[in-house]
Amino acid sequence: MSLNKLVDSRDVRFILFEMLGLEKINRFEMFKDFDKAMYDDTLNLAEKIAVDQFYSSNADGDKTGLQFNPKTNEVKVPESFHKGFKAYVEAGFHTLSFPPEIGGMGMPSSISMAAAEYFNAGNTSLTMYCGAITGAAYLIALFGSEEVKKMYLPKMISGEWGGTMCLTESGAGTDVGALKSKAVKQSDGTYLITGQKIFISNGEHDLTPNIIHPVLARIEGDPEGTKGISIFLVSKFLINKDGSLGERNDVICTGVEHKMGLKGNATSSLSFGDNGKCVAHLLGNEREGMKIMFRLMNAARIHTGVQAEAVSSAAYMHAVTYARNRIQGSHITQMLNPSAPKVAIIEHPDVKRMLLYMKSTIEGMRMLTLFLAYNEDIMHSSSNTEEVKEATAIVEILTPIVKAGISDAAWLVTAEAIQVYGGYGYCQEYPIEQYARDAKVFSIYEGTNAIQSLDLQMRKILMNPEMYNYSILKKLITQAIEKAKGVVDDKYIAPVKRGFEKLEEVINMMQAQMKDGKYMALVLNATPLQQAFFPLVLSWLHLWSLTITIPKTKAIFGDAKGEDRQKIISENNEAAYYSGRVLSSQFFIGSEYPKYFGKIECIMGNESAAIKAVPDNFTGALKE
Ligand SMILES: Cc1cc2nc3c(=O)[nH]c(=O)nc-3n(C[C@H](O)[C@H](O)[C@H](O)COP(=O)(O)OP(=O)(O)OC[C@H]3O[C@@H](n4cnc5c(N)ncnc54)[C@H](O)[C@@H]3O)c2cc1C
Repeated sequence: MSLNKLVDSRDVRFILFEMLGLEKINRFEMFKDFDKAMYDDTLNLAEKIAVDQFYSSNADGDKTGLQFNPKTNEVKVPESFHKGFKAYVEAGFHTLSFPPEIGGMGMPSSISMAAAEYFNAGNTSLTMYCGAITGAAYLIALFGSEEVKKMYLPKMISGEWGGTMCLTESGAGTDVGALKSKAVKQSDGTYLITGQKIFISNGEHDLTPNIIHPVLARIEGDPEGTKGISIFLVSKFLINKDGSLGERNDVICTGVEHKMGLKGNATSSLSFGDNGKCVAHLLGNEREGMKIMFRLMNAARIHTGVQAEAVSSAAYMHAVTYARNRIQGSHITQMLNPSAPKVAIIEHPDVKRMLLYMKSTIEGMRMLTLFLAYNEDIMHSSSNTEEVKEATAIVEILTPIVKAGISDAAWLVTAEAIQVYGGYGYCQEYPIEQYARDAKVFSIYEGTNAIQSLDLQMRKILMNPEMYNYSILKKLITQAIEKAKGVVDDKYIAPVKRGFEKLEEVINMMQAQMKDGKYMALVLNATPLQQAFFPLVLSWLHLWSLTITIPKTKAIFGDAKGEDRQKIISENNEAAYYSGRVLSSQFFIGSEYPKYFGKIECIMGNESAAIKAVPDNFTGALKE
């Protein structure tokens, strides 16, 4: 079953224009030349390329996969990827939100984030090659010397060269500071790199004639740990003075991983300097590698959340289409009548429950990522210091929630989509199981979710000066609760209020644990805290959206009830959208979010078994 909708475009527009009021940012100098029509056109184009060129190659990426040639150390991506890549780059999506001064289109992050959902829903493996150009170019534009920018940037901006980010080594995954790659300075100011990187996305491919690798390495003699790390640019081919490509640089791909998902993306092992001739240019200053890479990693973490949201959306759109067409059983009200007509499975209460769970979670994910992007736009364009400070706090505290919360939820949502398909969902002939396999890695790469949780708990909340980030989030939630009064039924306001009060208790307890030096108990609750934040934040956003969707439905339906209401829904797309949106927000707050309180209970219980357990406790058998 092939679809022409992988993302609910109406919902994207609702969030951007009705909830966030995106046009408000056109008051800033940076965005003054844009209007809603331009934003709409950009998103329509993104959707068209994503559906026509990306989605059409998604199954091919999964089934055909990559071809690694061990003689040439080259990787070929599926042939079908080339057309989509070309269309993406020619339309300029890789520089959509770059400032015009460096050749970008200067569009708001909110629009590039919304566009990214379309592309990732179409084909995540392919979108990664595209996004890697943006990431590497962004670092070069921010931190490159004039010489480095002149050498690398034009071909990145034109989309002619690809990019990567090279941190991981076999002994340095989560513990990046343990890396062994070395850099030695040469008399001409360049460096020679030696080392082995693993798991490098987009590490080798034939979509572009050259690939630029930002590589973390330690300059000889620099201190151990993260403090001694610098960042370098290694070009697959040496670059001549006139910008043309010279000889091969001394970096080769030694293999690609055979993975559970994202099979169209080359997760490569790269060997630098096997012949002692891997030439590199320093980015920024020596020993600033982690600080610089973090700029890219923060953006990459947010984009991992968007990937997870997009794959969930594609899985949901398939599931809901399948459920409308799959005839099985009769309506529950006719269960005792053997000659009752058979109905589509979407009529069965449990299937509706599964679909509403997916729908409401995905809409929550979308509100979360776009709200974050909107605040990035304010952060980068406002001249009001207070406004920038608040927007920065929002981006900081929401980043680990976007990365970890959405990626964990994507695994569950895509699994639920398989469930909607029944037995066919488990079969490779149908598109749905690929989404679950593709989604798993989002909780692992760009810093595992354990690391995101520690970041949220410690850096973004407890150790943030005066817990400013948290106080801003608190302000937003309180405002939404106030705004909802009189518009939204108290049944949906009260649990959000109560949930936030519970969170306050948790934060107070954690502050006390930190003060008392109970660090083990504290960090043991980092992941549960992050897992609690996600449904709470989604409930707040759903409550906010209800303050808009409820008045809209009242205006559309008036006093219409029962069959009259059904008739309006069947004849009017807007009526169907708004009433469906109200129901999914109510479902999320009423049916999904209450699990939050169980999580809070777990945290407050401070169960210490995991602290007491020593490695030998985990199995008797291994001791023998
Ligand atoms: C498909 C794919 C693409 C990737 N792309 C890239 C890329 O482009 N560039 C790149 O540099 N890397 C990339 N990676 C690597 C990825 O970022 C790492 O796999 C990840 O950081 C985890 O490192 P690890 O695999 O060594 O696991 P480990 O660090 O060994 O972790 C194993 C487990 O232990 C936990 N753990 C480890 N240390 C701690 C700690 N201190 N506290 C709490 N828990 C801890 C982890 O959360 C995890 O659950 C990619 C990986 C994959 C699978």
